[in-house]
Amino acid sequence: MRSLRIGIVGCGTAGPAVAAILARGGHAVTILERAPELHPVGAGLLIQPTGMHVLQHLGLLDDLLTLGSRIHRLDGRTATGRHILDLAYADLAPHLFGLGLHRGALFAALLGAATRAGADVRVGCTVESIKIDGDAVKMVDSHTNSHGPFDLVIVADGAKSALRQYAPHHRVKRYPWGALWFVADRRGTTFDHTLSQVYRSTDRMIGFLPSGRPRARAADTISVFWSLPYKAHDRFRAAGLDAWRREALELAPHATELLQQVQSLDECVFASYFDSSMRPCYLHDAPVVFLGDAAHAMSPQLGQGANLALVDALELAQCLSSESSVRTALHVYDQQRAAHIGFYSRASRWLTPWFQSDLTPLAWPRDVLMHPLSRVPWIRKQMLQSLAGVKDGVFSVRAELK
Ligand SMILES: Cc1cc2nc3c(=O)[nH]c(=O)nc-3n(C[C@H](O)[C@H](O)[C@H](O)COP(=O)(O)OP(=O)(O)OC[C@H]3O[C@@H](n4cnc5c(N)ncnc54)[C@H](O)[C@@H]3O)c2cc1C
Repeated sequence: MRSLRIGIVGCGTAGPAVAAILARGGHAVTILERAPELHPVGAGLLIQPTGMHVLQHLGLLDDLLTLGSRIHRLDGRTATGRHILDLAYADLAPHLFGLGLHRGALFAALLGAATRAGADVRVGCTVESIKIDGDAVKMVDSHTNSHGPFDLVIVADGAKSALRQYAPHHRVKRYPWGALWFVADRRGTTFDHTLSQVYRSTDRMIGFLPSGRPRARAADTISVFWSLPYKAHDRFRAAGLDAWRREALELAPHATELLQQVQSLDECVFASYFDSSMRPCYLHDAPVVFLGDAAHAMSPQLGQGANLALVDALELAQCLSSESSVRTALHVYDQQRAAHIGFYSRASRWLTPWFQSDLTPLAWPRDVLMHPLSRVPWIRKQMLQSLAGVKDGVFSVRAELK
């Protein structure tokens, strides 16, 4: 395809990833980001083999492997020690693992790739509207500055996207539960190569993800997640740090050293979860497409959001390079991504109440049945493939694993 003028809204995960690939392909790329300064927001992330495949394509994987923590297994137990989940990537294929990454490491790598490839990044630009002008699109920010014209606009403004209002067929819902997280120093702790979670009923959960270093020579980190309904957030803060620490230690007495690193609840950040979907993920009357959480936000129960955003970026760029027109490329992209995104949207929607909800009666079948079921070879394989990010449907897997 000819060289295009491409405008991207959002410099989180999908934005800089797609910018890097498209700018390398010879397109003129501009990223508009609302934050006044570029820096990552959020806790550690678990990058799956699907996401690593994209990082490899971008030439970023080797460096990120030196910064991240290799995760070999997922270990979920009740507070009484009963196993609920015990999944090792190597049971699927000996070379497989997950990569716990500090968001700073991923963000710096993606942003560096985008700017080195020539993408222009404009900060402090909150895009408020999209103006369609024939085959070109302009964007207007909150200071009424106009950006463009662009031959293609990629909206990657995240789970709280204000621009998805332009997509006629979308739905979005906020989950009643989210998580409080903080990033601690991992030195001297026992958490190694494992994403571990402890549950009591469906309304208490603490999780620990070794998340590597934000940059070379920094200390190794671990991201700690505490499940909380968003409506209980103010009450939780009012009860204070000691009350939370007592409750957290009842669930995870082995995390004493980690939890003592928190000096104030101000160091903990609350993240809301959203469930959104959109079909098609592009506009019929304009060259505008939605990527990442803007198109398909989901709870992080399966740890797939950033991975899906990376796969979106690569596959959109591939469709643009193989199709002769932007419109055809967007249509093919939408068709091509539907099964992968659909599977994980449905799976995380289905799974979330078993681990984060007020539906406490679900805890009993979960505690009694999930682990024995996961020992059944076929079911175990499905669970592992789901974790690795490669499921395209109940009975199909993506090429990364074939
Ligand atoms: C607690 C938590 C844990 C998670 N753990 C994992 C995990 O382990 N593995 C995983 O794969 N995923 C995980 N996720 C999900 C993952 O963070 C997201 O799916 C991923 O970051 C989505 O990337 P994105 O580029 O679509 O959106 P974002 O990364 O949210 O980026 C959106 C960007 O758009 C900018 N923006 C927003 N509005 C505008 C506007 N109007 N104009 C200009 N700029 C705008 C924002 O400032 C931001 O920079 C987790 C999420 C949460 C909340």
